Amino acid sequence: MTKRAIESLSDLQRAGLIPAPTSTLQDVADTFRIRMTPEMHKAGDAAVNAQFVPTEAEAVIRPEELYDPIGDAAFSPTAGLTHRYPDRVILHSTQTCEVYCRFCFRREGVGQEGALPDADMEKVLAYLRETSAVREVILTGGDPMVLSPRRIARLMQALAAIPHVDVIRFHTRVPVVAPQRITEALIEALDVRPAVFVVVHTNHAAEITEAASEALRRLTRAGIPLLSQSVLLRGINDDAQVLADLFRTLVRNRVKPYYLHHCDLARGTSHFRTTIAEGQKLMQTLRGDLSGIAMPTYVIDIPGGHGKVPLVSDYLTRTGTGRYRITDWRGGVHDYADPPREDPTSA
Ligand code: SF4
Repeated sequence: MTKRAIESLSDLQRAGLIPAPTSTLQDVADTFRIRMTPEMHKAGDAAVNAQFVPTEAEAVIRPEELYDPIGDAAFSPTAGLTHRYPDRVILHSTQTCEVYCRFCFRREGVGQEGALPDADMEKVLAYLRETSAVREVILTGGDPMVLSPRRIARLMQALAAIPHVDVIRFHTRVPVVAPQRITEALIEALDVRPAVFVVVHTNHAAEITEAASEALRRLTRAGIPLLSQSVLLRGINDDAQVLADLFRTLVRNRVKPYYLHHCDLARGTSHFRTTIAEGQKLMQTLRGDLSGIAMPTYVIDIPGGHGKVPLVSDYLTRTGTGRYRITDWRGGVHDYADPPREDPTSA
């Protein structure tokens, strides 16, 4: 097992994860950065490897695929910030990640080392101070938890000093892919006046190693609420049993499954995408098998920056005024009627 991160095709070859690379694979590696942590290599699982090991399939760019599939840039008032919805913003505090996921929807932007430059961060903070509608700051991709605890503490203090910021949300793969980074110093940095939520990004139960479980435990012991986000990935987790194992493992680790994302239209990722109908079918199967607390919402980010919506199966059909037909998780059909409403004009 490698002791340092795998960061190149030759590292992958030495680790026995790929044969001699072709020129197509070299092109892929030149376009989209490679990184896999020792922890993920140690997991030794094909579904884990497939998330980080590049393939020639990434050279296939489909016409519908986009550089910025969820439209971050269109809603950016200043460098490092996306303000799409009135009450929340996305703060890109770094473009570095501990791993580079082959399906990442921000794959064109991530990969540079270092934090958002101080001058840009000052502009972000000035914008937040002036924009009182913002209640929630979402720290995301790159991975905010690659920053040093000292830098995170500074950012937490600066955000906590803005009275209208109620919630700070970290979106991170770190507790799973680099659990040793969840240190006491980091946890201490998260102890600020706004409520800090951590949304753990994970796609397969094999990623949640013993060390990852311990890292999650350190966070929950500190009273930090944990949610998860996963991406539905063809050949990795597009199977009801695999998803059920993932969501049950998360709940066992006190992580509430939050979103299952339909894979975004990032360039060179069509081999990872299922159809929406396949995703809905999986969710329908899981609805019967899993407890409600283990069920995430299946969502899509509408390409072009039009926001996120649930991809709910059609459980409800309107059959008349106040009358419905409801389909249960086994496919059984049931009629339902609302109580008669009083006509407010008849009094
Ligand atoms: S932003 Fe998230 S999904 Fe994208 S490469 Fe980094 S860790 Fe992976």
